[in-house]
Amino acid sequence: ERLDETSTNRRILSTFKEGEDNINVVVRVRPLNNREARSGDETVIQFPGNGQILCESGSGQKPRQFSYNVVFEPAATQEDVLQFSGVKRLIEMSLEGFRCTAFCYGQTGSGKTHTLTGPPGLFGKKMAPYSDQHGLVFRSFLYLFQLIKERPEKHFVLKASYLEIYNEKVIDLLNPGSLRKPLAVRWSKKARGFFVENLFTVDCEELDDLLAVLEEGMRNRSMGSHHMNENSSRSHTILSVHITSEQPAENGVFISRSGKINFVDLAGSEMTKKTRSEGKTLEEANNINKSLMVLGYCIASLSDRKRKTNHIPYRDSKLTKLLADSLAGNGVTLMIACISPARFNLAETVNTLRYAARAKKIRTKPIVLMDPREALILSLKREVAVLQSENEHL
Ligand code: ADP
Ligand code: MG
Repeated sequence: ERLDETSTNRRILSTFKEGEDNINVVVRVRPLNNREARSGDETVIQFPGNGQILCESGSGQKPRQFSYNVVFEPAATQEDVLQFSGVKRLIEMSLEGFRCTAFCYGQTGSGKTHTLTGPPGLFGKKMAPYSDQHGLVFRSFLYLFQLIKERPEKHFVLKASYLEIYNEKVIDLLNPGSLRKPLAVRWSKKARGFFVENLFTVDCEELDDLLAVLEEGMRNRSMGSHHMNENSSRSHTILSVHITSEQPAENGVFISRSGKINFVDLAGSEMTKKTRSEGKTLEEANNINKSLMVLGYCIASLSDRKRKTNHIPYRDSKLTKLLADSLAGNGVTLMIACISPARFNLAETVNTLRYAARAKKIRTKPIVLMDPREALILSLKREVAVLQSENEHL
């Protein structure tokens, strides 16, 4: 039961271009908010350009410099994040059969939910007309359907699911009944991956179907958090779109591929410390943070180039089990680290910048899992080509 792609019975094709990072790490700095501005708080972040961030350190010391793929300054728009974060490449690759994940990391109030879904209040009303406040998920869905329209020769089947992990319990955001009976995460031998048992997956033929999933899940998230007296900053949400494509090949055979894109809104990164100081029971505190801590361990061990063992502790939390197929080295990942520019948040900001810098060191090689029929066709074609060239030389 290892996540080892060489042991699958499916053939593997890597169409990944060398030299392109499969973990893209970008930072988005939100504007100073009204409260910070009123209280005279000041910004501790500078932007020298070229994906660099300068962040103040202790008094009198030199500012620390960090380097990322892209840095979004406070004036950056929601559309900028779509265009320049690299998420468009993830969407393109998910259509080609790669498993992709975009996740927002950062302390509570740093702009994770704003970046992914937009400001509160955008939902619940009708999502149209298209507003400049709509977040990355909405924009990604538009782009996804634009690409599908441009590929009429292929038949795409889309299915979406939306879940929340709170206290290591998986709740289906499309099925409020699961609030009372959380769902189990299991290993599938056939698919060689973890999955959530009995999770609703909705067939999405049109853009509106995907948007309805987003809207319904957001509504249930806020209802659920009320019901459970929880704080949404302590839960993780994963919105997944599974994309299967079929393309007719020669001799009436179909080539099929299945990719996926996950959008993950993580719990506030300050939670580790906070829950301890709030006198929660050890189990509660551990559970709330377990997924976040294990994600940190996974990123640390993946990014440690000198590591001796190949053990990545995916199995130690629900979140990492469900993201393993993207993080394990065969997927493509975008990390959006969200930070506040205010001095008040400096300690958490430095933590986030360090975490993001660590993630940037990860090097893996993504693969496409091919249908065995496609693999067979390709190998037959290669044989034919070899025979033909031998013939020509006779
Ligand atoms: P998080 O999800 O990380 O806890 P939110 O996304 O809820 O944080 O953001 C906290 C507040 O700051 C919200 O009121 C949000 O609308 C606002 N905000 C966050 N990022 C931006 C931004 N880039 N531009 C304008 N407002 C923002
Ligand atoms: Mg949030």
